[in-house]
Amino acid sequence: MREINIITIDGPASSGKTTVARMLAQKLSIPLLESGSLYRLVTYFLVNSGEPLNSYLEDKQALLQFLREVFKETKIEITPSGTSIYWNGKLIKEELRSKEVEDTVSQVSAIKEVREFLTEFMRSIGEKNKLIAEGRDMGSIVFPYSDVKIFLTADEKIRAERRFKEKAEKEKIDKKSLYKEVWDNIKFRDKLDSQRKVAPLTIPDGAYIIDTSSLISEEVMNEILKIIESKNREK
Ligand code: C5P
Repeated sequence: MREINIITIDGPASSGKTTVARMLAQKLSIPLLESGSLYRLVTYFLVNSGEPLNSYLEDKQALLQFLREVFKETKIEITPSGTSIYWNGKLIKEELRSKEVEDTVSQVSAIKEVREFLTEFMRSIGEKNKLIAEGRDMGSIVFPYSDVKIFLTADEKIRAERRFKEKAEKEKIDKKSLYKEVWDNIKFRDKLDSQRKVAPLTIPDGAYIIDTSSLISEEVMNEILKIIESKNREK
């Protein structure tokens, strides 16, 4: 019987990755690496650094130094419930979902040096742990040797509605402008994430594609469980 160590789940924004990955991680008791939260963390610190983003694009040494300093104080906890990030002992959570981070994260994650730094960081986590890793390039670049690769997709409008519902519960702002904001952000990020030169969002070789448009999370998880079972039976 084949041992399953790393399962990757990739897909565009609001394709259902995070919810399904978490359900699966809890079902299988495997830690969940939410790679987007690392890109969000770097973005959060860059936009609050007091320096314009462009200055880091021009000075890659300064960018690397910045990344090293941020990560010196960063502690990552990965459990089946997800990835928690502590900086200087403080949990950084809501900050990673702010509008300024959502609007800038795809630009930051297109920077080669940021990707190389985080790829190495995530691989070192994968060396020590069984993992479910979710993101955009988990099966293609970070863990190309993973045992099971899943790619989730869903209709653009359905993804916008999902993100809208999630945000509408938390934010008390005008619903019409919130929907527009969510729709614009999803389209903007999808475009940048799939067109960037380094590690674009792509279907990894050997990935199982699941269209989640008309499925509830349990159904998606059951599909994945079936795939894992069939892989398990392979010699
Ligand atoms: O998954 P999440 O929405 O938290 O990801 C936020 C952003 O981080 C994505 O829009 C993408 O720009 C970037 N990202 C990435 N590669 C990953 C995970 C996330 O470029 N593996």
